[in-house]
Amino acid sequence: MAGNRQPEVNIGLVGHVDHGKTTLVQALSGSWTDQHSEEMKRGISIRLGYADATFRHCPDVDEPECYTVEQECPDGSDSEPLRTVSFVDAPGHETLMATMLSGASLMDGAVLVISASEPVPQPQTEEHLMALDIIGIDNIVIAQNKVDLVSGDQARQNYEEIQEFVEGTVAEDAPVVPISAGQEVNVDLLIQAIEDEIPTPERDPDDDPRMHVARSFDINKPGTTHENLTGGVLGGSLVHGELEVDDELEIRPGREVEEGGRSEYVPIETTIRSLQAGGESADTVTPGGLLGVGTGLDPSLTKGDALAGRIAGPPGSLPPTWDQFTMGVDLLERVVGVDGGEMVDEISTGEPLMMTVGTATTVGAVTSARDGECEVDLKRPVSAEPGAKIAINRRIGARWRLIGLGTLQR
Ligand code: GDP
Ligand code: MG
Repeated sequence: MAGNRQPEVNIGLVGHVDHGKTTLVQALSGSWTDQHSEEMKRGISIRLGYADATFRHCPDVDEPECYTVEQECPDGSDSEPLRTVSFVDAPGHETLMATMLSGASLMDGAVLVISASEPVPQPQTEEHLMALDIIGIDNIVIAQNKVDLVSGDQARQNYEEIQEFVEGTVAEDAPVVPISAGQEVNVDLLIQAIEDEIPTPERDPDDDPRMHVARSFDINKPGTTHENLTGGVLGGSLVHGELEVDDELEIRPGREVEEGGRSEYVPIETTIRSLQAGGESADTVTPGGLLGVGTGLDPSLTKGDALAGRIAGPPGSLPPTWDQFTMGVDLLERVVGVDGGEMVDEISTGEPLMMTVGTATTVGAVTSARDGECEVDLKRPVSAEPGAKIAINRRIGARWRLIGLGTLQR
């Protein structure tokens, strides 16, 4: 069925809690994806929700009404599929910023949902936009949601506030589309804006496959006998290349082994036993959407997200693993996402930082800090290319706050 094509692009849904992200995903995809195995669904919806939607086009209908997610067009004819996209619904709750940041590394573009019924910006509106800026996601559409709750004048006033807020940011030129996700008003305009602003990235099919692992699972029912165990499952997205059943896979940093009181991470190698994409099993998968990769690994290695934050690809193709690194540091001027936004102080030697690199989140202690550069000792190592972007968070009050952008140097 056309509706079950593998998604070709990942679009983040970001914005303040209760502004309507989940409602919008529902309006665009009909329903939450029920395509993945129960265990996978349960696991993922707690943290990062993925939902696939097929955007469709009605050949004989004018813009914007020609854009739809329905099979049937307003004129009664059949719509034709344009492309299937995967929405990554990032949690808007402030304590889950690390999850939002690790999700951001999987996004090719983003829809920033802002409620028309509240002053702009709300704390996570600001924080999420800053995160997009830092991760470098510049294909953005702003959905001005809940316009059904406000008068025309209030909607225009709110629109002005949004324009003012995004001035000078990565979303400066992003279209602002007034919608009601709840009442399904202007969904066609929003699809049109997404089609225009968030194209499917061009990808070289000959690139080595590289997967960001966002989740990992043990899908066996308790009490399954050893002979009947299904191997560990990885959930995440490919950033480039293709994976095929029977491919060899290396996972880095692999698993923690204790030896003589010291812990060390050793890469894991396994074989791909099954693949799942766009809700169906597949022999080959390409970038876009949530992939499930069945492996030959002992499921105890993958249960409970034990391998979240790892990267996977052909043996020998993966970037180095770092126990410590030096990063270039570009600090924000002010702490975002809090009232009054205090100034960001320089990073100092000895302070703990939380860093997000790809889908990995790790805490480290600063061993040396100089102007625009610092060295950190990581509690858990990460695998990344030199030049990789790092979201730097500092503990302020009760939580980690985004304070700047790092660039992995050496
Ligand atoms: P999220 O936290 O951003 O995912 O927000 P939700 O999608 O869970 O929506 C929060 C609340 O706002 C829910 O009660 C929704 O029913 C409501 N809501 C979402 N979109 C609209 C809208 O366009 N109009 C109105 N009136 N309510 C909406
Ligand atoms: Mg939600």
